[in-house]
Amino acid sequence: MTKIALITGANKGIGYEIARLLAEQGVTAIVGARDEERGRAAAERLGQPYVRIDVTDEDSVAAAAKWIDGAYGRLDILVNNAGITGGFAPLQPSATTAALVRQVYETNVFGVVTVTNAMLPLLRESEAGRIVNMSSELGSLAMASDPESPFGAFNHLPYNSSKTALNMITVCYAKELAGTPIKVNAANPGYCATDLNERTGFRTAEQGAAIAVRLATLGADGPTGAYLEDAGSIRW
Ligand code: NAP
Repeated sequence: MTKIALITGANKGIGYEIARLLAEQGVTAIVGARDEERGRAAAERLGQPYVRIDVTDEDSVAAAAKWIDGAYGRLDILVNNAGITGGFAPLQPSATTAALVRQVYETNVFGVVTVTNAMLPLLRESEAGRIVNMSSELGSLAMASDPESPFGAFNHLPYNSSKTALNMITVCYAKELAGTPIKVNAANPGYCATDLNERTGFRTAEQGAAIAVRLATLGADGPTGAYLEDAGSIRW
């Protein structure tokens, strides 16, 4: 049976590559995007369906779930990929406003909870539901507090802490769903050249997408509640 996947923020960057690579494997990769024009254009390029979804807007998330239910009656793969940084200008925690932190959390944290809860009834209809949360090595407390880590110096409170929260969200859902076929994992794509970082990354979006695709297509013996990159587990 053809697998059905929803990828949020799939109109460009790593999300687009996840949709493309899943589609290459024969998965129906629903391109989720908040902007109808950009979303439809990406979906057309991929020959895949489009659904409008703004992860910060509960009505749009509920409408997307309703549309998927009507069209497919289930969801096999959810990739919570949509994410923002709030701007990476040099900014110390003392200069960060709570409003900026709130803005980043609306997408990277609360958005994931909204989308996951809306899609869970559809994922429960799948024989082997997979949820992949696009995290970052910048969310790792172990690396942030390690003076030897190349990421330790990058002290961006809104983004880094949002991904730390996302890691715990991953563990929380994995625990709740442990007795079900649904697996929930966090993926670190590495530093990829996308609009998110003004294309400064040294990996391609396609390379970043690979770990998400792997976790989206895990077999029954695969991990759940894990934090993984291409090379394997990374430190929380
Ligand atoms: P990107 O090129 O900036 O793409 C981000 C995507 O998220 C866009 O499609 C954007 O849509 C969408 N988006 C933002 N807010 C949204 C919302 N409220 N509702 C729906 N979609 C929304 O970034 P990327 O590098 O591909 O990042 C993808 C994910 O990987 C993010 O979660 C990011 O934190 C994570 N990540 C990236 C890197 C990296 O080096 N690039 C490293 C670690 C983790 P619009 O086009 O409408 O803005």
